[in-house]
Order: sequence, then C-alpha cells, then structure tokens
Amino acid sequence: MRKIVLATQNQGKIKEFERMLAQYVSDIQVLGLDEFPDLPDVAETGKTFIENSLLKSREVSEFTGLPAIADDSGLCIDALNGDPGIFSARWSGVHGDDKANIAKVLTQLDQVTQSKRGAQFCCAVSLVFPKGHKNFGIEVIEEGELRGTITQEARGDAGFGYDPIFQPEGQGLTLGEFGHGEKDKISHRGRAMRKIAPRLIELI
Ligand code: IMP
Repeated sequence: MRKIVLATQNQGKIKEFERMLAQYVSDIQVLGLDEFPDLPDVAETGKTFIENSLLKSREVSEFTGLPAIADDSGLCIDALNGDPGIFSARWSGVHGDDKANIAKVLTQLDQVTQSKRGAQFCCAVSLVFPKGHKNFGIEVIEEGELRGTITQEARGDAGFGYDPIFQPEGQGLTLGEFGHGEKDKISHRGRAMRKIAPRLIELI
C-alpha cells in the first residue's frame, strides 16, 4: 500500500477522498492527522488560500516524510470586497465560532438587497512530496469555487461554518439544508479534490 497524508482530522473528509481515489487505483491509503499527534500546529500566516494551503501541505509532508495534501477554504462575499476570505474561521474574533461568524455577516449585509448578496466559497488544495521522493520539489495546486447568495436568515443545521446562510446558484435550499453527499457533489472542496486526485495518482 502506498501512503499519503490528508491534512485533516475529519474522518469524513478522509473516507470521501479515499472513495475518490478508489475510482482510479486500489493501493493508496489515506492517513489523517490523528495518526501524527506530535505534529506541531501550522500557523496560517499566508495572505491567500493557496499560500495557507501550501504552508500546511509542506509542513505535514516534511514532518511525516509522506506525500501530503492540504486544503484551505473560506467564504468571499462580493459586497464585502471578498471578505471574510482567509479570515472566515475567525471572522467574529473567536476561531471556529460559526454562530457568531454568521451573525456578523448578516449584520454587515443588513442593508444589502438580495440582488447584491452574491458570494462564493473558495477552496485551494495543494499536494507536495517529501525529500527523497522522485517528485520532491513539484507542488500541485488546484482550486474549486461554488457561487451563490447570502440569505437574509440562517436556514438548516446540516454542514458547518456558513452553510446555513449560503444558497448555491440555481438551488432553492441553503447548504445547511443539503444532505452531506449532495453538498460534496457541488462544493468548492469537492471540485478541488476531484481535480487533484488524478494528479496525485500520476505523481505518487
Ligand atoms: P477550512 O479551510 O476548511 O478550515 O475552512 C475555513 C473556514 O471557512 C471554516 O471555518 C468556515 O467558516 C468557512 N468554510 C469553508 N468551507 C466551508 C463550507 O463548505 N461551508 C461553510 N463554511 C465553510
């Protein structure tokens, strides 16, 4: 079995990526960060999704000695000039406080009419190889987007983050009202991951 690390502790993301790879090959095992408890926290000091994604994949690959894939994502709102962007997780000031983040966005858009509430989720995924690997030095980057609008109020409690206030283009439901499998088919992360999977198989 060949091994790669996906820079996440989320077992759902690991299983999903494994299923994606299984469509092409059967000998790649996807490890998560749970298997490397001593890995130091990676400071996300980049100015873009791509930079932050690379900071994570480089660090994880160097630490584990394995090919590593990392993603970085966020919500970019037109009327806020692309904010919260890379600050999505900590927009309200407290990292990962989804309710407070949503409340802040809804307040900021209070006076913005529905036709001006366009937004997109963005995801950058990167793949890097460790020293000694035949492809050390190659860094693959893929991106995925999902366009939509910010609703007037939160709807649905599936998903995470800003899902309850994001309605994908052409859909009547917010992502908070979507089933998980359905979201993966159209999501920014699903799109970026589906692009990087064949590149991994080619280069691993
Ligand atoms: P991460 O890069 O996956 O850690 O995501 C950063 C932040 O962006 C999350 O904490 C969420 O606030 C927001 N975000 C990213 N992707 C999504 C999504 O699919 N749904 C809702 N919020 C998301």
